[in-house]
Amino acid sequence: MQILKTPRQLQQYRDSLEKSVGFVPTMGALHEGHCSLIRCSKEQNAHTIVSIYINPTQFLRGEDLDTYPKQLEDDIKLCQRYKVDALFVPSSLYGDDEVSIVAPQKRGYILEGHFRPGHFDGVLQVVLKLLNLARPHNAYFGKKDAQQYILIKQMVKDLFLNTRIIGCPTLRDSDGLAKSSRNLYLSDSERKKALTLSQTLFYMRDNIRLQNLEKLLANAKGFLEIDRLQYLQITDYALNPLRTYQKDNTLITIAAFVGKTRLIDNLWL
Ligand code: AMP
Repeated sequence: MQILKTPRQLQQYRDSLEKSVGFVPTMGALHEGHCSLIRCSKEQNAHTIVSIYINPTQFLRGEDLDTYPKQLEDDIKLCQRYKVDALFVPSSLYGDDEVSIVAPQKRGYILEGHFRPGHFDGVLQVVLKLLNLARPHNAYFGKKDAQQYILIKQMVKDLFLNTRIIGCPTLRDSDGLAKSSRNLYLSDSERKKALTLSQTLFYMRDNIRLQNLEKLLANAKGFLEIDRLQYLQITDYALNPLRTYQKDNTLITIAAFVGKTRLIDNLWL
């Protein structure tokens, strides 16, 4: 496996490839969720490139940029085990006075974007840089970050980028907790509370055909044992609020704090 440390090295490596290229961008502290993306890319492409970069511009002031989990040695071993062809680990991708990308004013500033204003500007900026460097045929993103996936698909369409964005299902622990690098922050008792996020979503999935959505939301909130709920919402796949359940077009999203840890989860129904 090649380890590439600069944008130039990635560009040169990419120029040497002739067959299909799959790309999996991550922030590291790799877990089985990331592995499922890598597996998918390996199956569908001749070459797979993974990147690990903790992108500073997507963190708001006061968020966990400085404490975000880092385990590069383990991540390298995992990528080798999965026979990743190249791992891109840049130290920085930014200059000091840059052209910047702004997320769509509506969809980029609701839900996650409402509570983390500017977050998606940073996400789209770094993803655009990475896609321009790796020029992949296919890029793999988790549907666990539902709004991120939706906005990246929109960016690729709006900016006529030549990459297919592929959304992969959320990997969960056997008890239902969505896998996340941030789960490393949770104590045992916090993990128990965190489990109520997925339990709430599963309750909603099982009852969404039986109750009107307002009542369902009110009932569902009763299951949550978290410290602070930021949102629990039902939208369609384009993030418009929904009044009634629509088969194959209903997305339930949740964000909540358990202790100091902010967790998100969702279900696509
Ligand atoms: P991150 O390192 O958190 O930026 O995540 C890198 C990619 O992995 C993103 O596309 C995430 O949506 C995806 N991802 C994170 N957690 C999961 C999971 N539990 N299941 C599937 N994909 C995931």
